[in-house]
Amino acid sequence: MPTFHIITLGCQMNYSDSARIKAVLTNCGFSYSETEENADIIIFDTCSVRQKAEDKITWKLKDIPPEKKIWITGCMIQHNFRSPLMQSPQGSMGGTLKKWNFLWTITTPNPTIIWITNEQIKIFLWTSQNSSEILFVNHAFNPQFFNLHQTYPNLELFFRIDDTGYLPLILQKIGYELSNFDTEMVNEYEKIIPNENPSMNAHHRSAYLPISTGCNQFCAYCIVPFARGLERHFPAEQIIHEAKLHLQKGAKELTLLGQIVNKHPDFVHILREILKLDGLERLRYTSPYPTYYTSELLSLHENEPKLCPHIHIPFQSGSSAVLKKMFRGYSAAECYDFIDQIRKLNRDISITTDMIIGFPGETEEDFAESLQLVEYGKFDMIFMGIYSPRPWTFAAKQYPDDLPYAVKHSRREQMNTLLKQLSQANNQKEIWTIRTMLINEKGEDGSFSGYTDNMKQIIISGNADSFRPTVGEMLPVRITGAGEFKLRGEMVI
Ligand code: SF4
Repeated sequence: MPTFHIITLGCQMNYSDSARIKAVLTNCGFSYSETEENADIIIFDTCSVRQKAEDKITWKLKDIPPEKKIWITGCMIQHNFRSPLMQSPQGSMGGTLKKWNFLWTITTPNPTIIWITNEQIKIFLWTSQNSSEILFVNHAFNPQFFNLHQTYPNLELFFRIDDTGYLPLILQKIGYELSNFDTEMVNEYEKIIPNENPSMNAHHRSAYLPISTGCNQFCAYCIVPFARGLERHFPAEQIIHEAKLHLQKGAKELTLLGQIVNKHPDFVHILREILKLDGLERLRYTSPYPTYYTSELLSLHENEPKLCPHIHIPFQSGSSAVLKKMFRGYSAAECYDFIDQIRKLNRDISITTDMIIGFPGETEEDFAESLQLVEYGKFDMIFMGIYSPRPWTFAAKQYPDDLPYAVKHSRREQMNTLLKQLSQANNQKEIWTIRTMLINEKGEDGSFSGYTDNMKQIIISGNADSFRPTVGEMLPVRITGAGEFKLRGEMVI
């Protein structure tokens, strides 16, 4: 049976998706190769949040030798989809994009799989009554397949992440003889349990656990709803069951994932139940949305030591005018209020945020308001993105991208300079405190790096003769030094 290797780009959700792809393929008899060189099939699990992420894939395709097959999945191809619901009244492809285009979930055990030419697709669609039973792959799913296939004839498969459970059926359709797979499988993404704890780290002591997918918010700049579809919240029992499995396999830290993770209707219940599980040492979640924080959730942060003292709260801007244009649904005044609520808790919580720099029409005053918010929030980290228009989005269609790159770049530099000062000052306050550290890597110089419970990067030296830590270990450390974005520490023996 073929061997495969997965190249994952983007966020934690993609790492979790890749672990599911791996589980389905190994269940079919394929084997995973840790290296590209030894794999017959290279799978790209892609990101599309910024154009840069998509460009990376197109560059990387050039490096794949022609004898290896290429499969592509993930956000980059999903926002270029064409669904059966995108027909014009005449039945031709490429009709108007409607809300219903995002509700494309197939759950029949026996879908019709089509991947063929334009003409055949049209005929198929004209005669087909029930689009919820048609599984579109390759060119039928995305015209981009045809173009890339001209350059890379070894490109074999485009499939949606939501269709991962159907991979066995798809592979049989395109000619693979499978040794073994679950014939009862229908496409319930959340029921695919990864073989190993999904993580960006090699040690698998921390695991990502998706609790929802998709987004209904449609922020003006964001491609995610187009790439991942509308929100689906997974059942609480299924999530808690998966959490137990990860802990039984040795995970110590769990991170719950969702595009708006705290919008899950049972979010606090799920946190409470997972916090009771044996073996759990740390619980995190990402990415939350400011307006879905409740006093109950904040109180959990205050009172549950295993719920990490870190809140990532993506504000995106400190200007009410810009936030309104972004359709974020909150004002700058509310951002200050969120920060105050966190600071009032009887526990020291590290706050990080996301900021978009140079959104269309962002004036010097708007940007100054963002800097004011950063200063007030004393954020430990800001994930800054220079604005670039993304296809399908309201901003790309309605707001001219009017700020020169030099202006955006200079604003980013200003925010970065402020962030460095804040980080240095915040980290100084950590000196001589004791924190827990999860060791992610061992350096060539014998040092160890990882993250503290409050999500700060830390390096410790491994020179204590009596006790040598190992990668994947969670241990108490004393902070002995502080710099921008980094702490230094020593093991507490
Ligand atoms: S909340 Fe807004 S920024 Fe976040 S994924 Fe949804 S649309 Fe994108």
